[in-house]
Amino acid sequence: MKISEILKQDKITLSLEVFPPKTSDKLESTAHTALEVAALHPDFISVTYGAGGGTSAFTAEIAAKIQEEEHVPVLAHLTCVSSSRDYVKQIIGVYREKGIENILALRGDIPQDGRVSEDYKYAIDLIRDIREQGNDFCIGGGCYPEGHIECAHKEDDIRYLKEKVDAGLDFLTTQLFFNNDVFYNFLYRAREAGITVPIIAGIMPITRAVQLKRSVAMSGTDVPQRFRAIVDRFGDNEAAMKQAGIVYATSQIIDLIANGIRHIHVYTMNRPEIAAAIMANLSEILK
Ligand code: FAD
Repeated sequence: MKISEILKQDKITLSLEVFPPKTSDKLESTAHTALEVAALHPDFISVTYGAGGGTSAFTAEIAAKIQEEEHVPVLAHLTCVSSSRDYVKQIIGVYREKGIENILALRGDIPQDGRVSEDYKYAIDLIRDIREQGNDFCIGGGCYPEGHIECAHKEDDIRYLKEKVDAGLDFLTTQLFFNNDVFYNFLYRAREAGITVPIIAGIMPITRAVQLKRSVAMSGTDVPQRFRAIVDRFGDNEAAMKQAGIVYATSQIIDLIANGIRHIHVYTMNRPEIAAAIMANLSEILK
């Protein structure tokens, strides 16, 4: 099923994310974990993409397994900055063959050696390519409530985002954020700029202190004092940090829903027990 159709339904949606393994020896166990996440029956599951090598093929494999065995719609990610147009075309063909209807079209991070594709500069180039190959895919894109880390001015970032949406996006999913006010502010600016597609709010439960450091380094996201205090107090206690992280993410989601946000994506990654705990916390709210 197309995610654009799911987002049109008169209900609150909750989606989850899994990532493929880096090597084939982990494929079976990762697929097993992904199916455990899928057995929770969220509205859809997104499967991330690692550029090049085995992981790009594993995205399609895991996504197809989720659809076939748990009948949960999938969103297969695809990045372009390290790939040739021919390679991307091949992957899109594999997605189509496997019955994948939804693609999250991304640029990908610039590799550390700085070597990038001659065919793709930005996600918009990929979106145009997918659209050229037919209109049978529902396409989503990424967006950054605090501005993308490479973009010095939020206004430019929103302008590029509008161009990206106009190239053929059906929806957007945000980078993780810990401060809901940042999201409300972004939503206002996006709507003001004429971006009208659904925007799915991305929430990451932080269940280990080290995860917070990594997420902040990657995204540059603001960590509110309230959350910093939680990590300072419970970061050394694995079980307590896990519980506190789940509660913090749950309270963010409840606040979003209470303020009229209808679409939530939870970056639970390959942790079915965390996804299950959050869904249990929201069981009445999601009804
Ligand atoms: P773009 O939309 O191309 O933007 C990249 C930068 O270029 C921004 O700073 C933007 O302002 C700027 N820009 C855009 N157009 C122009 C222009 N015309 N002129 C000048 N500047 C411009 N990465 C993975 O490797 N695998 C994944 O599975 C993955 N999943 C993700 C899921 C979500 C929801 C999000 C938000 C990100 C994900 N990422 C993933 C990370 C993503 O690849 C990086 O954040 C990447 O750096 C940017 O990708 P993008 O598609 O948003 O890029």
